[in-house]
Amino acid sequence: MAVPSGRHFLQIPGPTNVPDRVLHAIARPVIDHRGPEFADLGAAALGALKSVVRTRADLVIYPASGTGAWEAALVNTLSPGDRVLMFETGHFSTLWARMARSLGLEPEVVPGDWRSGADPAALEERLSRDTGHAIAAVAVVHNETSTGVTSRIPEIRAAMDRAGHPALLLVDTISSLGSVEYEHDAWGVDVTVGCSQKGLMLPPGLSFNAIGAKALEASAAGGMPRSYWDWAPMLEAGESGYFPYTPPTNLLYGLVEAVGMLHEEGLERVFARHRRHAEATRAAVRAWGLEVLCRVPEEYSPVLTAVLMPEDKGADAFRAAVLERFDMSLGAGLGRLSDRVFRIGHLGDLNDLTLLGALGGIEAGLRLAGVPHEPGGADAAARVLADAPPR
Ligand SMILES: *Cc1c(COP(=O)(O)O)cnc(C)c1O
Repeated sequence: MAVPSGRHFLQIPGPTNVPDRVLHAIARPVIDHRGPEFADLGAAALGALKSVVRTRADLVIYPASGTGAWEAALVNTLSPGDRVLMFETGHFSTLWARMARSLGLEPEVVPGDWRSGADPAALEERLSRDTGHAIAAVAVVHNETSTGVTSRIPEIRAAMDRAGHPALLLVDTISSLGSVEYEHDAWGVDVTVGCSQKGLMLPPGLSFNAIGAKALEASAAGGMPRSYWDWAPMLEAGESGYFPYTPPTNLLYGLVEAVGMLHEEGLERVFARHRRHAEATRAAVRAWGLEVLCRVPEEYSPVLTAVLMPEDKGADAFRAAVLERFDMSLGAGLGRLSDRVFRIGHLGDLNDLTLLGALGGIEAGLRLAGVPHEPGGADAAARVLADAPPR
């Protein structure tokens, strides 16, 4: 393949494009993580994450991918054999349930169609029947990255409260944080799970748990055998800005810069930008005559849009054609959606023209790969963007 000019278009829903400011912040000499200089960086990083998770509670940062923070949430709060209620929203919720089972927990999965979010009514009904309080936790993926569906966490919390059930609420915000409205404290979440490489605009390698008081009590009283993921030594060292083992030092510089950028723009404006770009993307999909996978308008993801391929066309051949000809990466279908959908990431460091470039590339790719469609999708998105100014 010829050496490409211009930038690669990374339009997958994570890892996302890292802004130059963040890259520059990361490009610094590594410092002694036990030296005096480190404490300020550690404290700044914890404070930055808390400001985005919207919490005054405890928070621990791991040098790990999001999967590690999933495990940390489970092993610190739950004991072997504990029942965890989960929702089959898509591939990521399925993986989290599989992890719970392999750790010796008893995941009870509410079946789903991979086109809608966690159902608050089904949750209330199930918890109301659990009069013996056998269910120790409810675990929900906020933004299901495999389907482009965002579950309604405040309604999930309200359903738990109406049922009067004491289960902990664990929420995966890995692909929502920094892109979609989220409130750890105000929404009554017990553990928030997140990581660096999606809406936070950082490279992969940093993940975290935000820990409410009830979750902290549960971990002090029980939990599973744990070592690397144990909250206790993390929290103890974190009080003075340090870590019990080597932190991802340079990612912490990046984290402080990235969160600074989010606050400069203003979180509300960041969320509105994501909603607007998602709306323009759906306008393009509809104009092409293709189908958005999410079938509940209130649950359309501001982060990504999964697009169903026409019945006899494979999504992977289409994505391969787009990569080869236009140097753009689109998200693959995951799990049972393999080859059935492609996913357009519209999160993180993105502006109107990058989105229009991506949609233009998709439209050209549909033509190139012989996928039946109507032309005019990129044009429809341009009209949405022109008519709806950013807030
Ligand atoms: C990406 C993602 C994960 C997995 O994170 P890794 O960093 O790949 O371990 C889990 N949940 C959701 C919702 C995700 O988008």
